[in-house]
Amino acid sequence: MIDLKSMTLEEITDTLRDMGEPAFRGKQVFTWLHKGAVSFDEMSNLSKSLREKLAKTCFITAPKVARKQVSQQDGTIKYLWELQDGNCIESVLMRYHHGNTVCISSQVGCRMGCAFCASTIAGKVRDLTPAEMLDQVLFTQLDSGLDISNIVLMGIGEPMDNLDTVLKFLQLVNHPDGMNIGMRHISLSTCGVIPGIRRLAELKTQLTLSVSLHAPDGETRSRIMPVNRAYPVEDLFAACHDYFKKTGRRISFEYAMIDGVNDQDWQADLIAAKLKGMPGHVNLIPLNDVVESPFKPSKRIAAFQRRLESHGITATVRRSLGGDIDASCGQLRRKAMEEAKKGEKPL
Ligand code: SAH
Repeated sequence: MIDLKSMTLEEITDTLRDMGEPAFRGKQVFTWLHKGAVSFDEMSNLSKSLREKLAKTCFITAPKVARKQVSQQDGTIKYLWELQDGNCIESVLMRYHHGNTVCISSQVGCRMGCAFCASTIAGKVRDLTPAEMLDQVLFTQLDSGLDISNIVLMGIGEPMDNLDTVLKFLQLVNHPDGMNIGMRHISLSTCGVIPGIRRLAELKTQLTLSVSLHAPDGETRSRIMPVNRAYPVEDLFAACHDYFKKTGRRISFEYAMIDGVNDQDWQADLIAAKLKGMPGHVNLIPLNDVVESPFKPSKRIAAFQRRLESHGITATVRRSLGGDIDASCGQLRRKAMEEAKKGEKPL
């Protein structure tokens, strides 16, 4: 069976041409899929025989809302989606002044092993498809009734570990006949997979690259992020400098503040030294307490921010949204999986 929604307009047009259909049918089908049609029967401008033919050879992905939590504090909505194979993933809709932003997952689980992150505890199950990534944006918009203007690839999974799919998803979501979300409104976050950063630099896209730094020194970083053993932070900084030289785009560095681990003044000084020559932006994140993790939130966020600023580095503290609904980093998926395992609640 063909996963039609994972295809570009050109690929759909070719597929239909092989079925003996004229080229304009491709655009009709593409438009229906990107409006959220879940069956071929809905595609009323196609002949009945074509709809039947498509239904025999192709399928349309459509995730089910397994759980939905709305924050009473700030209107953040967290979705747990059930995919067609029974796996589940999370997306979060955040309502910022600059527009509604959806944070989407790129994989079912994650194999990067960051010590403070809930998404990686049970490892990676599989990669998502382009359609499954697009669906998170599409069905969040349809279910919530809110127009989505921004996307961040900061949900479950490591985008650079599934980069071909991510690039195809970007092409789809960016398409004028589809959701038409501009690259400048999209951020991609990586834990520091250097070959992916270099590949993205070559493509010179307008998206914002976020790098999850979390420590500027190799010893601390290897302790909390195993990826640092494959791609040491020294090489990561070099790749970031090259990325800026190639694209002219400012990189955003994510920095989850962990008590006594990465929140010391010398570490702020080291960040500043390493970013010299590049207009970086450091986004300090109050650590979300993950039950399974031994790490605690830092009490030195303001001091660390001031220290960075004293070196001329732009540093902001991320406002925490959805604190009342487990709205971060794989926590809802984990909770749902645990409850399903104990037989307390179905997904
Ligand atoms: N794999 C990608 C994107 C997903 S994680 C990456 O690592 O960048 C999105 C961000 O949330 C990353 O910066 C990640 O390090 C951070 N994060 C994970 N667990 C966290 C926690 N408990 N508290 C605060 N931030 C966390």
